[in-house]
Amino acid sequence: MVKNSSIEWTDNTFNPWWGCRRVSPACDRCYAATFSKRIGSVGWDIGAFRTFGDKHWAEPLTWDRKARAANRRERVFCASMADVFDAEAPSHEREKLWHTIRETTNLDWQLLTKRPNQALKLLPNDLQERPNVWIGCTTETMKMFRQRVRLLKRLKTPVRFLSIEPMLEPMPIGPADLEGISWVILGGETGHGARPMQPEWVRGMRDVCAAAGVAFFFKQWGDHDATGKRVGRKKAGYLLDDEEYRDFPKGAAG
Ligand code: SF4
Repeated sequence: MVKNSSIEWTDNTFNPWWGCRRVSPACDRCYAATFSKRIGSVGWDIGAFRTFGDKHWAEPLTWDRKARAANRRERVFCASMADVFDAEAPSHEREKLWHTIRETTNLDWQLLTKRPNQALKLLPNDLQERPNVWIGCTTETMKMFRQRVRLLKRLKTPVRFLSIEPMLEPMPIGPADLEGISWVILGGETGHGARPMQPEWVRGMRDVCAAAGVAFFFKQWGDHDATGKRVGRKKAGYLLDDEEYRDFPKGAAG
């Protein structure tokens, strides 16, 4: 399979537009803002958006056709350069996205947001009931966990997931807090000024996921390794106590 994304927990990345505003501590070192600035594209935090033409929008249709021909499912992360549920984003582009999702039944759409309050308002009812629509929210701190997970759980989507990336503090939760959640992705921070993550925070989340029967995907340490030394993302790797933890939710294509 051709992988159209460098992100380990997906197969393809699709951006319906570029542009966003920072909403919480996980946005402090927003990769998308840095990348966009570097290539002189849309400015961040100013309500400007870059939209795309037909060739770009044809990509998911091609992935869907190929997946169907190969009799397999493929995942699509949406979005790395935007937040699909950003209420300020152009609504006609969001409508195009909903239409594309309806058309691509061989793709599992991983919609990750920091705005689950807006997801409740903006996600059409028919898409809440589709097995190929997964909704996740970022919960980098306990405050964000408390604010966002209760909203996420109000969505009816079959797969609800958390992205604890970057994990910025210990998260002392119990299995009951993960009720209704299928999947937890966890990772450390990268980029200039990245904040280190403690191994016991990661172990704690691994153990609570195991107790709750929730799939756990440890993506990376970030720029700091398990000892807290800044060695770079590649060298820091993704092993926890010499083990790999890269599970997907039950029933999902692995
Ligand atoms: S929500 Fe995502 S894309 Fe938007 S500013 Fe925050 S990290 Fe960047």
